[in-house]
Amino acid sequence: MKFVVLMGGPGAGKGTQAKQLEEALSLPQIATGDLFREHLRNKSELGELARTFMDKGELVPDEVTVAMVKDRLSRPDCAHGALMDGFPRTVPQAEAFERLLHEMGEQVSIAPYIHVASEVLLQRLAGRWTCKTCGHVYHVLFNPPQKEGVCDLDGGELYQRDDDTEETQKRRIEVYFKQTAPLLDYYRNKGMLAEINGEQSIDQVQNDLIEAIRNSH
Ligand code: ADP
Ligand code: ADP
Repeated sequence: MKFVVLMGGPGAGKGTQAKQLEEALSLPQIATGDLFREHLRNKSELGELARTFMDKGELVPDEVTVAMVKDRLSRPDCAHGALMDGFPRTVPQAEAFERLLHEMGEQVSIAPYIHVASEVLLQRLAGRWTCKTCGHVYHVLFNPPQKEGVCDLDGGELYQRDDDTEETQKRRIEVYFKQTAPLLDYYRNKGMLAEINGEQSIDQVQNDLIEAIRNSH
């Protein structure tokens, strides 16, 4: 089994890469942000709770997030592992994840860190457009769709996320440095961190990731 923890700030390219890696590695993407947004669309209680944090760019409480991930990991498509995108995001989440995997006789295989300077993160978030139906991510300048506002893959409508306002983006980056960046040392100390230069083309980042993941245990 392979459990890959994709690390990197908001806008580093985790979702973009995970969507492509799903196919290359035959592992499902588990994106906690996407799971929360799904709950929001379904107007579930969990979704309403998550919204109050997401709208401010703050993290949803660990307990709630971990329970949601636990449930997701129990689905059959995770039988060979998963690509974790946006989870864990705090040290307590990483510890809880380790315990969950331990119960399955597993551990994290590798934590690739997609490294991107913070001013580039902001440029990326500012131009991000997402497909309403399939979740494919575009960028107005760096990765535009063939036809403005329309997904290349399924013709779905592209939208800008509610939490992609300038104020929330800045707050998310701050929260990342305060609460998530300490996880880099957590995985570095365990010998699991692999630094990837995230300021290359999407394809080059993809190649570096595949090589690092294939070489992990
Ligand atoms: P981005 O792609 O910009 O990093 P995400 O889609 O990963 O954003 O996350 C959007 C929001 O969802 C976060 O700002 C946070 O409120 C919530 N969220 C996502 N993952 C987690 C997590 N692991 N722990 C707590 N909150 C989370
Ligand atoms: P994350 O999931 O880490 O928050 P995304 O995958 O949503 O990041 O990417 C953020 C934005 O940056 C998107 O608009 C995406 O198209 C763009 N992007 C992703 N990777 C690259 C790259 N290597 N070069 C330029 N733009 C990129």
